[in-house]
Amino acid sequence: MFKALFIIGTAIASSLAMALSFDADVPVTIKMQMEADLAFIGGIQGSGQTALHKEVFGDVSGITYKKFFESHIQTVGISYCRNGLPVACVFPTINENKLFLTQNFVKLSIPQTARLMVIYHESRHAEKENKLLAKDIGFSPNWPHANCPIPFLDNQGRDKTIMKSGEKLEGLPACDTSAYGSYGSSTILFKNLSKFCRNCSDKIKMDADMFASDQLSRISDAGSLKSMLVDFNEARLEGYAE
Ligand SMILES: [Zn+2]
Repeated sequence: MFKALFIIGTAIASSLAMALSFDADVPVTIKMQMEADLAFIGGIQGSGQTALHKEVFGDVSGITYKKFFESHIQTVGISYCRNGLPVACVFPTINENKLFLTQNFVKLSIPQTARLMVIYHESRHAEKENKLLAKDIGFSPNWPHANCPIPFLDNQGRDKTIMKSGEKLEGLPACDTSAYGSYGSSTILFKNLSKFCRNCSDKIKMDADMFASDQLSRISDAGSLKSMLVDFNEARLEGYAE
């Protein structure tokens, strides 16, 4: 009986594993980390979702996230990604369905939630149907970033900065005007995990909320930002009347 349950459990676990191929030169540490991260998100169980999450992804569930990822990315390679600083990147003009990881994926002590946020951010850039909305940004032609405004201040008049480095965001191509772009959609995903994941630890939920709030601050269009805050039921917290 126990053995039978184990076999069923294994079958379910392997059905949740993502069908993904890795280039031969991807280091085994990176491959194992990526597989563990995808297995984690593939096992999420949710208890609801916001309207924006329903629209972009569907329900909060591992099945939803597995389907989304697999419909965007089929292969993983290793790359320097422009300047060696990012954790991951895509080059959709070369291969729309390939995600490149850098050594930073395992070298930097990044929480699992932040690695997954990057993976889903890059997956959004793999959507060729959302191409060239801003022709001046060449490296991510699908759902391209917007340039952050100058100055780019929070509601207390302080410069908004990159969480990791403290660098000012003003003028950098590191914002979204839409709720549906790479920053916007990953914010929606992780805000929903923080609110509706039934089988996540408190640490995962806290990280999901913290990183999602950081990404949310990069939505530079006031209307899009407000619609997201309303969707997350956080508009009142930010001083908006609902
Ligand atoms: Zn991006």
